[in-house]
Amino acid sequence: MKRWDNWLRGLSFALFVVLMINQKVQLWLGLFLVTLVLARWLGRLYCGYICPLNTSMLVAERLKKVLKIKEFKQPKFLSYKHLSWITLAIMIGFMVFGQVVLKKQPPILPILTVLAFLTALFYHPSFFHNYLCPYNAPLKLFGSKATFSKHVTTEGCIGCTKCEKVCPSHAIAVDKVSRKAEIDRALCHQCQECTTVCPTHTISYQKVVK
Ligand code: SF4
Ligand code: SF4
Repeated sequence: MKRWDNWLRGLSFALFVVLMINQKVQLWLGLFLVTLVLARWLGRLYCGYICPLNTSMLVAERLKKVLKIKEFKQPKFLSYKHLSWITLAIMIGFMVFGQVVLKKQPPILPILTVLAFLTALFYHPSFFHNYLCPYNAPLKLFGSKATFSKHVTTEGCIGCTKCEKVCPSHAIAVDKVSRKAEIDRALCHQCQECTTVCPTHTISYQKVVK
């Protein structure tokens, strides 16, 4: 059965392509800013359903399985937890340079989409999501305070770790002592991966009391 989230991602990707072809990058950045602010209340829905980088990574994940490509280990020197603030600064630097010096906007978003695809082909997707992606930095900040988020009802959790294994951003982990899963809102993309595999249907999108 086709999943509604794949359709939504496909439509968002098509909109992205149309806007890029027509050089309306500012419209896409506007959409990003709206969803960034909304992440404070609704979580990182941009990552889960709208982001073209994520959609390209999902395609890469499929391809990786079909071609049986083995994942490399994430390089240690690129495992600094605030790395995405640096990549954000680099991206803004390129945009300003393009605008002021070249009088032309460099195609940063399409370049990032290709980079995300290639990274996900050879590494776990969390490498790009949590470290390389420039959008991760502000989204993490807003998402960490989300009022609504994916949440595990601990009574229903049997600690099977199925959710942990499918999470693209390492946002869910089963505690070694309590054997209960917990979600980090700052990293959670509010996608359907963990919800779909949970055998006890104990993960849902709800108001988080914290
Ligand atoms: S898949 Fe469900 S039951 Fe298994 S650890 Fe995750 S939340 Fe708990
Ligand atoms: S915790 Fe669940 S909803 Fe959040 S990113 Fe991971 S798989 Fe997606």
